[in-house]
Amino acid sequence: MVLAQLGGSISRALQQMSNATVIDEKVLNECLNEITRALLQSDVQFKLVRDMQTNIKKIVNLDDLAAGHNKRRIIQQAIFNELCKILDPGKPSFTPKKGKASVIMFVGLQGSGKTTTCTKYAFYHQKKGWKPALVCADTFRAGAFDQLKQNATKAKIPFYGSYMESDPVRIAAEGVERFKKENCDLIIVDTSGRHKQETALFEEMRQVAEATKPDLVIFVMDSSIGQAAFDQAQAFKKSVSVGAVIVTKMDGHAKGGGALSAVAATKSPVIFIGTGEHMDEFEVFDVKPFVSRLLG
Ligand code: GDP
Repeated sequence: MVLAQLGGSISRALQQMSNATVIDEKVLNECLNEITRALLQSDVQFKLVRDMQTNIKKIVNLDDLAAGHNKRRIIQQAIFNELCKILDPGKPSFTPKKGKASVIMFVGLQGSGKTTTCTKYAFYHQKKGWKPALVCADTFRAGAFDQLKQNATKAKIPFYGSYMESDPVRIAAEGVERFKKENCDLIIVDTSGRHKQETALFEEMRQVAEATKPDLVIFVMDSSIGQAAFDQAQAFKKSVSVGAVIVTKMDGHAKGGGALSAVAATKSPVIFIGTGEHMDEFEVFDVKPFVSRLLG
């Protein structure tokens, strides 16, 4: 279910409840079940939805509803607050400072949009007067370096990589060292993704992190991966200390629920979303406007 449809389904469930002459537990439950179904179809993890339902039941007082208060508003507000709570892990992510070298390592599965997102992130900061640089530590995927090089050249961002060297840890360390010497203030390390979660990938991420000492590790997730989001995010979090999330492909047929799962699994905030294939299709993520849009 795409985001706009989720808002519509929730609104319909609330409307049906408002139309009932008496709001008793049964009517409230029916409404919450309807909302639960809508959230599950939008790929919000089952456990999150179940907890949310329990919390809403605790918050929403049936006597208040019976007393003629605006039922729709009370429940909608409770849902809004619960969704915001899931998306806000309570602590902001590391924020790089202009003029001071920061190393930002990107992790995520192949095809998640990681390489594209590295350039978008660099380009976004370059426009704001930063001096970013890109390091290609993906020696696994043939063509990864060419792709990064092409993107970097288009955006006039310095890059580092190798066609010959097969050790990603070495490339990452060399690239970071070089760009520190060149006084770049945002050194972005793109890593390998492989096709699936596998031990070798996580070991490689651990070693690249050890060699580059990143100030921030960003987990990149494709918004269309559905219910797999929680496990995938958690698997990366176990090998490297993920501190922020970027959700890609939020344009088109994107489902929004995976974002909630990724935050819950990594206990890290979503900082940007990707909204297209182009360099500037990249937006700062803000919890409240996102949830407002979600609820329609
Ligand atoms: P990687 O394997 O994780 O490095 O993924 P890539 O950066 O190569 O991206 C895989 C595909 O997803 C490419 O065709 C990108 O153009 C596309 N892509 C990346 N981000 C977005 C996005 O936000 N929206 C859309 N529609 N496509 C994206």
